[in-house]
Amino acid sequence: MPPPKDWTLSELRELLDKGSISSVEITQHYLQRIEKYNSNLNTFISVIRDQALILAELADKRIANKDNVLPLTGIPIALKDNILMKDVGATAGSKFLKDFVSPYHSTVAKKLLDAGAVIVGKTNCDEFAMGSSNENSAFGPVHNPWKHGFAPGGSSGGSAASVAARLVPAALGTDTGGSIRQPAAFCGVVGLKPTYGRVSRYGIIAFASSLDQVGPLTRTVKDNAMVYDSLCGHDPMDSTSSKHPNEITYKALDSVRDLKGLKIGFARELLTERIDPLIRDNVLASIEIYAKLGAVITDVSLPHLDYGIACYYVLAPAEASANLARYDGIRFTARSPRSMNVEDTYAKSRSEGFGPEVKRRILLGTFVLSTGYYDTFYLKAQKVRSLIRQDFMNAFQNVDVILTPTTPSPAFPLGSKNENPLDMYLSDAFTVPVPIAGLPGISIPSGFTNDSRPMGIQLIGKPFAEKTLFETAYSFEQETLFHERVPTL
Ligand code: GLN
Repeated sequence: MPPPKDWTLSELRELLDKGSISSVEITQHYLQRIEKYNSNLNTFISVIRDQALILAELADKRIANKDNVLPLTGIPIALKDNILMKDVGATAGSKFLKDFVSPYHSTVAKKLLDAGAVIVGKTNCDEFAMGSSNENSAFGPVHNPWKHGFAPGGSSGGSAASVAARLVPAALGTDTGGSIRQPAAFCGVVGLKPTYGRVSRYGIIAFASSLDQVGPLTRTVKDNAMVYDSLCGHDPMDSTSSKHPNEITYKALDSVRDLKGLKIGFARELLTERIDPLIRDNVLASIEIYAKLGAVITDVSLPHLDYGIACYYVLAPAEASANLARYDGIRFTARSPRSMNVEDTYAKSRSEGFGPEVKRRILLGTFVLSTGYYDTFYLKAQKVRSLIRQDFMNAFQNVDVILTPTTPSPAFPLGSKNENPLDMYLSDAFTVPVPIAGLPGISIPSGFTNDSRPMGIQLIGKPFAEKTLFETAYSFEQETLFHERVPTL
């Protein structure tokens, strides 16, 4: 085995194909790292060591027999703990589901397994994917690998931090309002939220069904494309899954450098005084880099984006209040031992099972859907949703890609935003409009603060234009090489 180094997924693929390393060796290497660092970082809720080693052996046989070897065959990967894998626990970060074992595979887990990937475990996340710092997990917060005591972002913080800390070469997250892209920015990795309907939601613990999407977190853009290609496609088990044809996105990447003629839209109005000056300078510097790479930077206006957070915090809780009604202490979730009758079972189990942020969302969602408030809040938010989508569609008449910061600030200290929920919600100001409009968005590393906290920029694409996003992201990555920096654990 070549000496363990800072392998990317693509490098591992080459080593596996050349036969210079086996999947079992790689898997053991990552399992050892997880064992060594998980107590400090808290990125994993469960590690399925034995299953992983069996999957690795099967992958090695497949590679030895040259039997349908695909980009992910033999590659270790982690799943956020709201993604179901048969016979494995899925808590969604909630103590309510702490003993739940999934009776079936999500479509994405099935696709990874069919591709020969080695699923090693389930990563920590905010409860039911509600949060931006991982502090809403019933299993304790994740620490940012770049700076202990700082938030990794959320809700897919465990997935982002695991990839940044080199505990896995890739992980899946889910994104409803920013939960892949915001932690990707905080942890200095690449995170893609695909177009709504591109990746199946079957077997994902639902938060807000009109917004939820699964996507990959990886160290490099090419690695991200390799995982993305393995996930997407129509699924009859998800009625919102799209029949848009699949395309292979990763293969063409090696030859992309020059972006001559690509039009990148930038909305200067988004850089308000609410943005940390470090982020402001970083995004302006990133625009310069794109100009140097040959892109044409064009001003665009997105006037309704300012209403994104308000719109999201009506729509997402409304949908969550319906989706979370199923957790009643009867079928899936922990039952309160103190209950006297059926109604009491519901009330006590839910009061004891859900954490405070989830309760806040259920209350908010029930309120905005109730008679007398439905038109004022829910219906209005639906109209705002159309306006936000229209803003993007207007801008895309003139540009191919839109660039924004991913987050208004770099990673903040754990505990610093717990007093006022709105403070926390605002950390998704740039990411929330993208799922509201159903568009694809990717966050890529764009630099570091003086104290080594990563920063990220977000590229937003037209529906199903993931390939353009990857190409645009790839040339920036190859020019800047921010992905080569390694955190000291
Ligand atoms: N941070 C946002 C929230 O708390 C987004 C979460 C997500 O995308 N799952 O709802």
